[in-house]
Amino acid sequence: MRVHVVGNVCVDTTFRLDRFPQPGETLNASEHADGLGGKGANQAVAAGRSGADVRFLAAIGNDAAGAWIGEQLSHDLDVGHLTTLPRPSDRSTVMVDARGENLIVTSASCAAAFDPLADSDFLSSIEPGDIVVMQGNLDPAVTTACLRTARAAGAMTIFNPSPLAAGYAPDLSDVSVAIANLGEATLLTEAAEPAEAARALIRQGAGAAIVTLGALGCLVADGEGHIESIAAPKVAVIDTSGAGDVFCGCLTGCLAAGIDLAGAARIAVRAAAISVGRTGTLQSCPDRREMKTLME
Ligand code: ADP
Repeated sequence: MRVHVVGNVCVDTTFRLDRFPQPGETLNASEHADGLGGKGANQAVAAGRSGADVRFLAAIGNDAAGAWIGEQLSHDLDVGHLTTLPRPSDRSTVMVDARGENLIVTSASCAAAFDPLADSDFLSSIEPGDIVVMQGNLDPAVTTACLRTARAAGAMTIFNPSPLAAGYAPDLSDVSVAIANLGEATLLTEAAEPAEAARALIRQGAGAAIVTLGALGCLVADGEGHIESIAAPKVAVIDTSGAGDVFCGCLTGCLAAGIDLAGAARIAVRAAAISVGRTGTLQSCPDRREMKTLME
């Protein structure tokens, strides 16, 4: 069983600040660093570190940043499925304050133009039983078409509708497992209560739904209406950016290893808790040895 993560990759520049700037204000950062980012890349790396055989499909630009992304990703993943487009590579600015909260601005030149069905060998390599993971960075119509294609090819589809553009109502009918944080789940369903929101995601077509709840862990709802609440370990928060991606990637790796959905979520909350206790997005993701220990 292989995992195909289809999404975006970018260069994240992270600035650490005591507090976020107000409009019109300039602040000095205490530190800054470039790192790999993009929800697709983050989830692909986390799934790979959880032991999955991952194929990562994403677009990079034909510039120095694109070459840098390919080189950095090659430490974790086979980069043979990256598509180079005649555009600038995508970039994000991530600000992290003293409480570990983050503000992120991202460009999506490559992500918005990337069509895996046209630009890559997406379809030909999907086998029944594979897992296809997507996020909200690609064009919504492209995402819907890829999920439909993957499902028709017999794959399990995992969809994390993040980032979520206002007013975007994704089609969940080809989604096996929808994973959304409470804010996204509420936007999608108009239900503010987590269990209500999870049930509503299933009514909208998802086979199962997970609503992540930050420091409170997550809630897993299966297609039969059974709901399990999973608490997160208590940790001193350094940086929450990327926690949701570690959660999704680790959950995927656990599913690929044959663990059931609730069992996978129990491991994923522990992996995400490790990541919030460290700085960075991808840098904070548990390594292969740590993932293996969590999965034992
Ligand atoms: P996102 O990062 O996508 O906004 P959440 O904030 O819900 O989503 O976080 C995703 C997962 O990361 C949570 O389900 C939880 O397991 C873990 N997590 C996030 N914040 C914390 C925290 N403060 N302490 C422990 N775990 C956390």
